[in-house]
Formats: sequence, C-alpha cells, structure tokens
Amino acid sequence: MECIFCNIVEKKSEAEILFEDDKIVAFLDIQPINYGHTLVVPKKHYDNFLTVPRNDLADIVKATQFIAGAVKRSVKADGFNVITNNGDSAGQTVYHFHFHIIPRFNEDFTFKPRIKNYGTGALREYADKIRSIISKYKDVYNGK
Ligand code: 5GP
Ligand code: ZN
Repeated sequence: MECIFCNIVEKKSEAEILFEDDKIVAFLDIQPINYGHTLVVPKKHYDNFLTVPRNDLADIVKATQFIAGAVKRSVKADGFNVITNNGDSAGQTVYHFHFHIIPRFNEDFTFKPRIKNYGTGALREYADKIRSIISKYKDVYNGK
C-alpha cells in the first residue's frame, strides 16, 4: 500500500525533516495552519492512534514533547496544540498515525467548535455508556 509518510520515513519522498531517531521522524507540514506546524510520525506504519502498540506510545509522546518545545521556542509562539485526527469525520487525511504540533499566538483564531449542552439526564447517560465499555475492556487494559 502506497503511504506518503512511509515514503518520507524511507527517504523516497522529500520532506523538511527536523529530527529523527530510531522510532520517529518529525518534519514540517507542507500546508501549515501556522508556520512551524510540525508532524511527528512513528517510523512503523500504524493507521491511527488506536492501532499504535502501547509500548510504542511513550517514545512517540516523549519525542513530541521535546519537539514541541523546540518549535514553540523557534517561532516564539505563545502556545501550541498537540492533536491527532482519527477518521474522516475528525479530519484525518493521511492514514499513518501522526501528532500535529501547531504553534499558536495570542491573536490567533480559536479551534473550539460550537459547544453543545447536555439535556436533562444526558450527561449521566453518556457517562454510563462510556463507563460500561471501559469496564468491559479494563482487564485488557490492565493486561489480564
Ligand atoms: P491529517 O489530516 O491526516 O491529520 O494530517 C495530514 C497532514 O499531512 C496534513 O496537515 C497535510 O498538510 C500533511 N501532508 C500531506 N501530504 C504531505 C507531504 O507530502 N509532505 C508533508 N510534509 N506534509 C504532508
Ligand atoms: Zn505509512
């Protein structure tokens, strides 16, 4: 399967690489939301956040923290977003897992979509639904 990010990892496609180690590669997004917008990509191909093996997550997050600090400092950003889009509905366009590091400035736009209100009883209903799935899978989470 042809994957743009695998090609970048394998140096078959060009990218402005900022940092790499044996686990990840970080490079500039070609269509930045703000200048310095960076992608942190595991060298191994996983489709999305849910399919990254748990043991690989710490390395990716650690690298993302390090690179986010460097990006923020270099563009003198006031803040930054670390996000991952998962699925078409969430805006994912490249199905090789990645974190976005997006530098943010005080005068920037807001990312917050329109906020919804829970109707009577709905907060508890949603919480119950999620808690029941969590309780069903918590032994898997705990490695039992
Ligand atoms: P997603 O929409 O999947 O969360 O993010 C994919 C990101 O990859 C987009 O922000 C897009 O601009 C970036 N992108 C897509 N193709 C390339 C490419 O060939 N090179 C680089 N550097 N970034 C890319
Ligand atoms: Zn890939």
